[in-house]
Amino acid sequence: MAHDCIFCQIVRNETPADFLYKNDALVVFKDIHPHAPVHLLIVPLKHIRSINDIDAKDGGTVSEMILTGKLMAKKAGIAESGYKLLFNVERGGGQVIFHLHLHLLGGWK
Ligand code: 5GP
Ligand code: ZN
Repeated sequence: MAHDCIFCQIVRNETPADFLYKNDALVVFKDIHPHAPVHLLIVPLKHIRSINDIDAKDGGTVSEMILTGKLMAKKAGIAESGYKLLFNVERGGGQVIFHLHLHLLGGWK
């Protein structure tokens, strides 16, 4: 948990976000600046900086994030049309929030 981390604050309900889904490992909410008609963020409760910081013990969390991406794509009605699941990794990879998250993007015509 990092006190100055916006996603930790969201996870702890200290910063508002409407959770579309929540379980004991993660939450899902809409990206505030969507890059696609459907743009959701799948965010683990645990503060992990980036994919560079995961190891074998985080395998369950990462697996849960991907399975939740699939579930949310189905709920959003974009499973058949298709979608992207994306991790930006560190600054050069476009990461600006240093709390692990998986982007779900889709809904293009
Ligand atoms: P990154 O570039 O780090 O992979 O993606 C971070 C994403 O978080 C960006 O797409 C950005 O729009 C989104 N974001 C940043 N701050 C907030 C916030 O306070 N609330 C929500 N819902 N999304 C945020
Ligand atoms: Zn955090």
